[in-house]
Amino acid sequence: MKIIDVESFVLHVPITPPITDAINVATHWGLAGVRIFTDEGIIGCGYTGTTAFGDEMIAKTIDQYYREVLIGKDPFMVKEIWDELRFGKMHWIGRAGVTHMALAAVDIALWDIMAKVAKQPLWKYLGGHKPKKIKAYNTNGGWLNWSKDRLLKDVTEIVEQGFSGVKMKVGKPNPKEDYDRVKAVRKAIGDDITLMIDVNQMWSINTAMTWGKKLEEFDLFWLEEPLNPDDILNHKKLANELNVPIALGEHVYTKYAFRDYIHQGAVEYVQVDVTRVAGITEWLQVAGLAAAYDLPVCPHVGDMGQIHQHLVASTQNATMLEYIPWIRHIFVEPIQVDNGYYVLPEMPGASTDILPGYFKKYRVK
Ligand SMILES: [Mg+2]
Repeated sequence: MKIIDVESFVLHVPITPPITDAINVATHWGLAGVRIFTDEGIIGCGYTGTTAFGDEMIAKTIDQYYREVLIGKDPFMVKEIWDELRFGKMHWIGRAGVTHMALAAVDIALWDIMAKVAKQPLWKYLGGHKPKKIKAYNTNGGWLNWSKDRLLKDVTEIVEQGFSGVKMKVGKPNPKEDYDRVKAVRKAIGDDITLMIDVNQMWSINTAMTWGKKLEEFDLFWLEEPLNPDDILNHKKLANELNVPIALGEHVYTKYAFRDYIHQGAVEYVQVDVTRVAGITEWLQVAGLAAAYDLPVCPHVGDMGQIHQHLVASTQNATMLEYIPWIRHIFVEPIQVDNGYYVLPEMPGASTDILPGYFKKYRVK
């Protein structure tokens, strides 16, 4: 089998209403992606996720630098291709960021092709582990720009829909307001629901130490991205001092950075994101690394779950998956959650194929 064409795309899918966390305002979810065409008629589709900024640079990397390497290659040689792209012309300016996320899109498209050839959903192609029970937790009711009333209404509805896990954003200018919101949410959802809070990197080490301790009383399942994601040392301090586990990974690019976090005990829930770590090839290595330290993997869904459902379903130490339904309507086989659990896809591939109508409607490149 040979690759005969490679075509990048950028889609901007509206988020209604727009949301904020402590550092992002998002009006659209961006899919910077690629379709890889083979001589046997099988087409692979892969993408990385953005807040709809900079994705044209990801597409340009694919078209201008990766395409020429891919044409004529056997898509089953995915690991050789990964090395060649990573250590090729873009290595000088790459290793993280734009070029790395472009590699994620390509790598995912190649795994999609392989699973399609095998006529298996990716989670079975990778070796299935949990066919029926992927616990979902819902992030889509806890945004920072929600009023307290809306926040309480949304988290209550999420629990009524059958979710047993809820995540909410914190990182208000005055942490006292965060404290009041977390307190109100815990009261609204009761003691049996798993509650996570996400700072999106906004706190200093001193704020995190003080308010992380105060918030312990609400039985938090984890404290997510409290600090700058490059600051392993201070995350380690927090992990040692707080009784709430530290979760992070959505802004960590490589297995080497994960190794340092994990080996130093600076992370307790590994949120490795396939759209950030240059695809499935590197994701599997990070998950294996976490397994050797007995750490759970709970991916952040830069892909909004389409690909990660396969990865969690085939990974022994992956325990739970985030749910945000912003872009599910655009896919041929969208993610599906029933009573708080992901229902796994059965179609061959990585669940990345996009309906032609939406591909056209949301395409900006
Ligand atoms: Mg997060």
